[in-house]
Amino acid sequence: MSTLVLVETDADGVAETSGEALTFARGLGDPVRALVIGELSEAVTSQLSDYGVEAVHHANGPAFETYAAAAWAAAVVAAARETDAGVVLASGTPRGMEAMAHSAVRLGASMAANTVEAVSRHPMVVNRQVLGGSVLEQMQVDGDIAVLTVAGHACEAVPADAPTTPAISTLEVEVPESDLIAKVVRTEPGEPDESGGLKAARVVVGGGRGTGGPDGFGDLTELAELLGGVVGVTRVVTSLGWRPHAEQVGQTGSRISPELYIPCGISGAIQHWAGCSSAKTILAINTEADAPMVTKAHYAVIGDLHEVLPAINEELRRRRG
Ligand SMILES: Cc1cc2nc3c(=O)[nH]c(=O)nc-3n(C[C@H](O)[C@H](O)[C@H](O)COP(=O)(O)OP(=O)(O)OC[C@H]3O[C@@H](n4cnc5c(N)ncnc54)[C@H](O)[C@@H]3O)c2cc1C
Repeated sequence: MSTLVLVETDADGVAETSGEALTFARGLGDPVRALVIGELSEAVTSQLSDYGVEAVHHANGPAFETYAAAAWAAAVVAAARETDAGVVLASGTPRGMEAMAHSAVRLGASMAANTVEAVSRHPMVVNRQVLGGSVLEQMQVDGDIAVLTVAGHACEAVPADAPTTPAISTLEVEVPESDLIAKVVRTEPGEPDESGGLKAARVVVGGGRGTGGPDGFGDLTELAELLGGVVGVTRVVTSLGWRPHAEQVGQTGSRISPELYIPCGISGAIQHWAGCSSAKTILAINTEADAPMVTKAHYAVIGDLHEVLPAINEELRRRRG
């Protein structure tokens, strides 16, 4: 029995979200096999080796020149049967979601979307995000094959302890015309990322209502600069016009996964938490010890941010000479 991962690629090789899905798959314990559709570059093969993949199944040909969810599902089903897959998964991207939904129907399998954690493998029980990440629910996926998608940034993309030498094979896939009736016919670049680097930032200093107003962000911005990070804010802050919407973190803003998140004067409402829960370390600064953000944080300073932040900045400047 194996775990089959549908891998999406981009100009750099394995897409980051697929790296996360491969890491998630390794955690399930069965040998991990990858399905790559379309071009298979050396960069992709080498990265799949780093992720500990045992075999790569490559589907290529005219049917895969442009994306068609049903055609991808035909490849997933062929690979799942060839590999005796017990779990078939993809990252929770639009393509991953579509291909897995089609595949689950064709395999007669149960599916859980947006999983963030595998609770057990036998039976397959997962935790997954619903309602835009504001609620977690536990789901048991019965049947011979479980089909999953992994929510973006639910886990970090981490290479295996030791690289593998994956066997590469060409997958024979029958793709009828009926699988190509909905396909991509044109692509063009989308809106540029105007989050100011928020989504990719390693350090984010957050500001909420507790900043007191648009003039209350000076120390916070300085801390972000001192740490090489950026500012992120709550919806209250953007709704009041204190800062631009591009800086909003949360369910209706950007989802961030920095190494360090420092939420200042932020209560930690579930809609905000949905956007920052993947931060590796959270240091909350808040006057209220029982604010949800404080109780969920790894570290907290209970105090007025207008006193705490200048003290931190001064100490950082002093240490840097
Ligand atoms: C459909 C929907 C979608 C939403 N989407 C989002 C979203 O994407 N992102 C988001 O952030 N919110 C979102 N919200 C709003 C969310 O529910 C909260 O209202 C919001 O996150 C609260 O913002 P806040 O923490 O800044 O304010 P508050 O909840 O008012 O918290 C202010 C905090 O500051 C502390 N404080 C006050 N003064 C100081 C001080 N001087 N020093 C230190 N601490 C101080 C207080 O103790 C308190 O904990 C959404 C709501 C809905 C209904």
